[in-house]
Amino acid sequence: GGTIGILGGGQLGRMLAMAAAQLGFRVHIYTPERDSVAAEVAHDATIAPFTDPLALGRFAQACSVLTFEFENVPAGPLGFISERLAPNLRALEVAQDRLKEKRFAESLGGRPAPFASVDSPADLARAVERIGTPGILKTAREGYDGKGQWKLASARDADAVRLPQRTCVYEGMVRFHGEFSVILVRGQDGEIRFWDSTENRHDDGILARSHWPPSASVAAQVEPARGLAARIAGDLGYVGVLSVEFFATEVGPVFNEMAPRVHNSGHWTIEGAATSQFENHIRAICGLPLGDTSTIARRIEMDNLIGEEALTAHRLLADPHAHLHLYGKREAREGRKMGHVTRVWPRG
Ligand code: ATP
Ligand code: MG
Ligand code: MG
Repeated sequence: GGTIGILGGGQLGRMLAMAAAQLGFRVHIYTPERDSVAAEVAHDATIAPFTDPLALGRFAQACSVLTFEFENVPAGPLGFISERLAPNLRALEVAQDRLKEKRFAESLGGRPAPFASVDSPADLARAVERIGTPGILKTAREGYDGKGQWKLASARDADAVRLPQRTCVYEGMVRFHGEFSVILVRGQDGEIRFWDSTENRHDDGILARSHWPPSASVAAQVEPARGLAARIAGDLGYVGVLSVEFFATEVGPVFNEMAPRVHNSGHWTIEGAATSQFENHIRAICGLPLGDTSTIARRIEMDNLIGEEALTAHRLLADPHAHLHLYGKREAREGRKMGHVTRVWPRG
């Protein structure tokens, strides 16, 4: 029994709530959104801003453990519930700030793209001078799905760009032969288990497809990347599912970013692994034994359904290997993740 509180109301919260329900837990969603797709499948929901101390306090009272499905939940107001929060507040604080996460990864022997902090046009000019172009300017906080990012092809672009009124990061464009993610779960006793790493393709900054097995040149870089991900989890005293995105490059894995949560590139684990990322996250934060993370297929592909693609998705079920997930979002806006389809080719 017990009630799990989830901060954030999107599809990750929805899939976490479904996994929690299977294990007999009640789920309470906290979200500022009126039409949350997670609240729809949960036992209870609080609709309030993340910064409302009274609403947060009542929510916390109703829950035995608290987690989040979104790294942009403001960390400050969560101080009073930090003891029941998993992953912990430090993991959230590091992962919600691109500068902090890059410095943190570096401190543990990871290699991010060359980067610089940018608060002014003069900072940007210096950064472009040192790092060169092409590069990407990103807001340090609050970006996701490629939002809050601008590609700079030349120093002239850098002169023309109007900086947002907030701290940014300028990073050099990495030449990679593939992108991949390491997804692990760490239990309360410190045990770590990894899922197999998919190769991920992004279109316009949004994950389009993940597939396993990855190409050989990507597969060769998974081991060192796992080492860094495990050091990150260990150093943070992390409990739950942790995701780390990498570029596979000529000089080895380059750290892109980390997400202190279940990850879009791990959706395949629902049908393709013995235990899904969602179930293992719930198990970890509730102090239960972790499930087997082995892959149970010989080939897997996960395609996101973005915007209007989702409107005709039921016809994908004509493929007997296809497993369709629609998140129940009302408006199929451009660039919005509406669902995904996983194709699993069984063994033997
Ligand atoms: P997410 O939804 O994964 O949190 P995000 O908005 O935080 O996305 P990033 O992961 O920073 O975005 O970037 C999105 C994608 O843009 C990357 O997966 C990659 O394809 C491309 N990209 C970002 N930074 C770089 C870089 N320095 N060099 C090359 N490609 C990059
Ligand atoms: Mg991100
Ligand atoms: Mg990313």
